[in-house]
Amino acid sequence: MTLLQLKDVSRRFGGVVAVNNIGLSIEKNEIVGLMGANGAGKTTLFSLIAGNLPPSAGEILFDDRRIDGLRADQISRLGVARTFQIVRPFSGLTVLENVTISALFGSSRTKSMVSATNIAREVLEEVELTNRAGDYASALTLSGRKRLEIARALATNPKLLMLDEVMAGLTATEGAEAVAMIRRFQETRNLTVIVVEHVMGILMDLCPRIVVLHHGALIAEGSPQDVANDSRVIDSYLGTR
Ligand code: ATP
Repeated sequence: MTLLQLKDVSRRFGGVVAVNNIGLSIEKNEIVGLMGANGAGKTTLFSLIAGNLPPSAGEILFDDRRIDGLRADQISRLGVARTFQIVRPFSGLTVLENVTISALFGSSRTKSMVSATNIAREVLEEVELTNRAGDYASALTLSGRKRLEIARALATNPKLLMLDEVMAGLTATEGAEAVAMIRRFQETRNLTVIVVEHVMGILMDLCPRIVVLHHGALIAEGSPQDVANDSRVIDSYLGTR
């Protein structure tokens, strides 16, 4: 069953076509990798889906409903969450308080502080940050801040989660732990996940399907092996065989 559908979606910034006429369908429960060089349009695509930016053209359907034109908070309430490359927690609040605020928004939208705090505690358990719940967000390491960013997204109770370079800058061990964690919560929550990551090994390991962007256009999609052997991908991105 299709959860997300993009039809001829484009986004321009002045003369730059950041996203160029993209058509893409994502099924429920898929983990899809989104790959492409710097400036290929990956983050812009996330922003279009999440409603942080309006598309210049095209249609976006989520759960069979048009969402292009809706505000980010409306789209969040329908069950779309994203992380940001530059993590931006409220640094003067604790880890638990940061996640509690997210639980008050999004599709979990509880009005009660007690239930929001309970949701936040559960999510911190899922991302293994429970032991840092009372610390200021600013005191976390990079790996901890990335987990907090994921926790804030999960606390909105999404159906679709878009992860933007949540493993960048992590050590190999931390990266492997993050992959295991993503697999775990994807399964227990029946989530659909789109992952942007520059570390190819991680993307190919985690994602049965990969979509490749180049200068805003979708140039290839398929299994990791198909994509790695695609001549356009090799020419435009991987460089060598
Ligand atoms: P990276 O891997 O570096 O994050 P990306 O694939 O996410 O790259 P985008 O950040 O989506 O790429 O950028 C796509 C293109 O759109 C780039 O040429 C970028 O300079 C341009 N762009 C993105 N956001 C804006 C903006 N707010 N104003 C003007 N140009 C923008």
